[in-house]
Parts: sequence; C-alpha cells; structure tokens
Amino acid sequence: MKIALVGIGKIAVDQHIPAINDSPDWELAATVSRHGSVDGVDAFTDLGDMLDARPDIRVVSLCLPPVPRFAYAMQALAAGRHVMLEKPPGATLAECHALTAKAQADGLSLYATWHSRQADMVAAAKEWLTDKRLTRLHVTWKEDVRRWHPGQDWIWEPGGLGVFDPGINALSIVTDILPHPIHVTGATLKVPENRQTPIAVNLEFHHPQGAQVTADFDWRQEGDQIWMIEAETEAGTLTLTDGGATLKINGERSGTAAPLGGEYPRLYAQMAQLIADGGIDMDLRPMTLVADAYTLGRRETVAPFHD
Ligand code: NAP
Repeated sequence: MKIALVGIGKIAVDQHIPAINDSPDWELAATVSRHGSVDGVDAFTDLGDMLDARPDIRVVSLCLPPVPRFAYAMQALAAGRHVMLEKPPGATLAECHALTAKAQADGLSLYATWHSRQADMVAAAKEWLTDKRLTRLHVTWKEDVRRWHPGQDWIWEPGGLGVFDPGINALSIVTDILPHPIHVTGATLKVPENRQTPIAVNLEFHHPQGAQVTADFDWRQEGDQIWMIEAETEAGTLTLTDGGATLKINGERSGTAAPLGGEYPRLYAQMAQLIADGGIDMDLRPMTLVADAYTLGRRETVAPFHD
C-alpha cells in the first residue's frame, strides 16, 4: 500500500521512514512537511495539496506534535484516507473521540499507535501477569530531556505534555500488561517556573484488588537513564527495563521477544492488518490517565528550565 508521511522531524527520520522502507506492506509514496523531505519521494508542504494530487495514496501517517495533529487527521479522514497517529493520538480526549466518530461514520481505519507497547518483552510480560495477583507496581521513568528533546519547544507548551510525553509510554505499557483497569487517585506535577508543562510527576493509582500502584517520571535525570516497571505479585516479581525491551522474573532473564524486529515495524504491520480488517484501534486509556493527572494534580513550581 502507498502511504504518505506527515511531519518529517525527529521520529519520522529515526523510526517511521526506516520501518516503512523495510516493510513488505508499505511504499513511502509522498511526504508532507514544511521543512523536511525524503530523497526520491514526492514532497508536499501542504496536506490538502497532497490529498488532491495523490488520490492513489489511501493511507496517511501523522508524525506531528500533538497539538496540530487533530486538524491534519480530520482533513485526511474527510478526504477518505485511513489514518495512523503517533502517540499521544491528540492534544485532548475530545479530539480523539471526534476522530473516532468520523472514522466510524466513513468506514475508515484509524490507529492510535503506542510504540512502547511494541517493545520486545511487553507481550511476554502481559502473558506472565495474566493469572497473577498483583500486590505492588511501581514505574520509574527517568531520562534527560536535554538528551532526548533538544530544542523541542512544543513539549513545554500547553498540549505538549512535558514529562508525560515519555511518561505516557510507560502508562501505555502498564495499561496493556495489567489484567485489571487502574485509575489516577493523586498526582504531583512539578512545573518549571518558566514553562507550562511538568518536568517531573509523581502518580498514585487505584487498583481494583488493592495493589499499591505508583509512578515517578522525571526529566532531570543525568547519567544512566531509567525506564523501568516493577510488578510484585504473590507468585514473584516481574521487572521490565529498557522501556520494555528486557524482562526479568525474580531477577532472572525471561521471555521470548515478540516477532518482527523493533517497535515501529510492529506498528506498521498492525496498521496494515487494521486496514485489511477494516478496523479502528483507538485505545485512549494511557491518555485518560494523563488527563486525570492534570485534573487531580497538585501543581508545584520548581526551578526554571533552560535548554
Ligand atoms: P518534532 O521533530 O519536533 O516534530 C515533527 C515535525 O512536525 C516537525 O519536523 C515539523 O515538520 C512538524 N511540525 C511541528 N510543529 C508543527 C505545527 N505546529 N504544525 C504543523 N507541523 C508541525 O517532533 P518528534 O520528536 O518527531 O515528535 C513528533 C511526535 O512523535 C510527538 O507526538 C512525539 O511524542 C512522538 N514521538 C517522538 C519520539 C522521539 O524520540 N522524538 C519517540 C516516539 C514518539 P515541518 O516543520 O517540516 O512541517
């Protein structure tokens, strides 16, 4: 299938373009970006122009930051195209519901991707937890924002999510691997005095079986980067590290990696399957947790952040 990639920035270059080029399902047929392009691929700066000029391209993948994403997604759906969304699938939940309704009404596929769910050992972790009784789960997601988001001002603006931008990846894994739903009961949002979004967050959740579920996200981490989920159960302790790439049960390496190498090849394989099935996959649970953290969160002002 021919696909157009919109927003040729960091994640498009690092992950989407290689995944599409290596996939037997996809041909990168056009790009839409005001500044970026891909050698040898039909390049547009305006989405409407691409949709008009290339009726042969039936699928559009959006790699923009969350705030502009809704307008682009709605325009593509209105032009009868299937749409794949980078995470988070919008800037607000209401936007995502509107996109779902439009896709449903017009019989189009719509995919809210959560790339971290496709990390090598997430499926194995989910399988192990299926029949275990959880007593405690803690997420530690600590990275250096200067290393991973150099010069990205949008992450500090309203709708940019701040440290929830990586933190929502952890929440996408937790909501996938836990057999029971959780919801936020408390949050502390640490916001630099010169910014709009948090640089660090502490979260507490309700778990229906009474397990203690908590998360710490921090963008001020220097040295070793930590993307870890520890789940204690009555049958032992599961530890997912490296963002879901490594699994240990009671300290011993465990599990077999999911098929297909890499998170983005798996996402594009799923998009191909979704279109074949005529399906919609808009799991908004990770985003609901973030929205509720903003609703309930206690805001603390912390030292200013300068890039
Ligand atoms: P980015 O490089 O800052 O932005 C991607 C592209 O979007 C830009 O190059 C720009 O292209 C376009 N864009 C930016 N602001 C826009 C606006 N207001 N209107 C229209 N187009 C705009 O961001 P990114 O790191 O690739 O992240 C994009 C999305 O991918 C985010 O939702 C992020 O959470 C997700 N993601 C990022 C990473 C990562 O490691 N960076 C990993 C996984 C997921 P033009 O100026 O050429 O139009």
